[in-house]
Amino acid sequence: MTKFSDLNLDPKVLKAIVDTGYESPTPIQAGAIPPALEGRDILGIAQTGTGKTAAFTMPMISMLRRGRARARMPRSLVLCPTRELAAQVAENFDAYAKYTKLTKALLIGGVSFKEQDMLIDKGVDVLIATPGRLLDHFERGKLILSDVKIMVVDEADRMLDMGFIPDIERIFGLTPFTRQTFFFSATMAPEIERITNTFLSNPARIEVARAATTGENIAQSVVMFRGSRKDREGTEKRALLRALIESEGENCRNGIIFCNRKVDVDVVAKSMKKHGLDAAPIHGDLDQSHRTRTLQEFRDGTLRFLVASDVAARGLDVPNVSHVFNFDVPSHAEDYVHRIGRTGRAGKTGTAMMICVPRDEKNLEDVERLVQNKIPRLDNPKGGNAPAATTAPAAAPQAPAPQSGERTEEPKKRTRSRSRSKPVTDAPKADVVAAKPDVVAEKPVQKQPETPVAKPAEAPAEQPKQQGGRGRGSDNNNRSTNARATGLGNDAPDFIAMSFEERRKG
Ligand code: AMP
Repeated sequence: MTKFSDLNLDPKVLKAIVDTGYESPTPIQAGAIPPALEGRDILGIAQTGTGKTAAFTMPMISMLRRGRARARMPRSLVLCPTRELAAQVAENFDAYAKYTKLTKALLIGGVSFKEQDMLIDKGVDVLIATPGRLLDHFERGKLILSDVKIMVVDEADRMLDMGFIPDIERIFGLTPFTRQTFFFSATMAPEIERITNTFLSNPARIEVARAATTGENIAQSVVMFRGSRKDREGTEKRALLRALIESEGENCRNGIIFCNRKVDVDVVAKSMKKHGLDAAPIHGDLDQSHRTRTLQEFRDGTLRFLVASDVAARGLDVPNVSHVFNFDVPSHAEDYVHRIGRTGRAGKTGTAMMICVPRDEKNLEDVERLVQNKIPRLDNPKGGNAPAATTAPAAAPQAPAPQSGERTEEPKKRTRSRSRSKPVTDAPKADVVAAKPDVVAEKPVQKQPETPVAKPAEAPAEQPKQQGGRGRGSDNNNRSTNARATGLGNDAPDFIAMSFEERRKG
């Protein structure tokens, strides 16, 4: 089994790793760190939960140890689609860089420009940003990107969903062509493929299998529900949600309730509170300090229910979630896997319940096709409601197509439809091994994944990056070297379940 000490990381990073308690690198780390340290571009196909953040922060820190930042000229740049993910990257950076003198700044919406300007003026080694905020700073003349040596694009597929790709392309253009690029995406939609062909040079491609199906340790069910009258559907659906929660009794320690639309997130949270349930909303329209506080309360266990949109909750490392309630069937089947993966971690059992109204039946079919299973139907605990017909009656008009969850912060015009994302099931079978990368640990077993380690692409010797040579369609890309690997799966150790704060406190 590969050890961290085999990876050529800087001794100060290794020392910090000891403090985290990690026993050995995850497959994406074992695969990406060596070529990254050799100066190669990295194309990581991995989703959250696989240890991918450390896979790029650890080599970055090791490489940036030599050299110093100049005023307004960051030496590296990490782009994340949401504020929460950017904050998580910053936490990773703090944890692994704690024995170094490297500095960082976090450029996200909801935080005053003045504070951020001051940090940038001093000079930072690592700039972690959402694309919109970064460009705002750039346009105000406060930021020079010509000294960026390493650029990371994290969760590129989510960037695509949120319409950030034009911003990303622009930012690529503002950085020197000699930069080293680390690019991470859970899926390789054609648009993502195009970007990687254009901006990455002979990348080492490391692929970590993703969850094509959902965990067997998660008890899943769906209640088919039709409101007694169209104008009562919302109220009755919220009452049904409460009934589902009640029916779980004490088993339901806590839970995340997912809604497709931000407006419903607010309404559902408000209604739950009104009915005595301890709930708070989280979505992109809420200010940053509010979102951070709510999440922290949920992590701490002082808040029982988090009502969330997909974007706000995606990728968050929240352990110990006993229940997930899908107030709506997600309009993109892949989100179902992400949503329910918030529970049932590390081999523990979890429960995922969903409400399906007639107009969502098509989405339900898509979900069941994706997970290759029929989700068991549950009787309405309130009784009385006849199961919805298989097809929506003509009288039930289609609701306006939900906007794939929401727009979130710094919304941009969506440029490509999400349906272009390569469905999970399209992934070559060989890449889909028994991993549940999005379903990371909850507790005990200080055990490392026993899974095969991803091999870094057996790359030909690095070819010099040529100006203009990153042309679209360039066949430089080393795509034939996919490594087969798994994510942390159920074997992830317990410290994954802790926040960095907890881990630091030890
Ligand atoms: P990420 O995929 O970056 O969101 O990471 C998911 C979780 O895995 C985080 O809580 C990390 O702290 C944890 N993690 C990262 N690397 C390792 C490792 N080598 N061993 C165990 N846990 C890890």
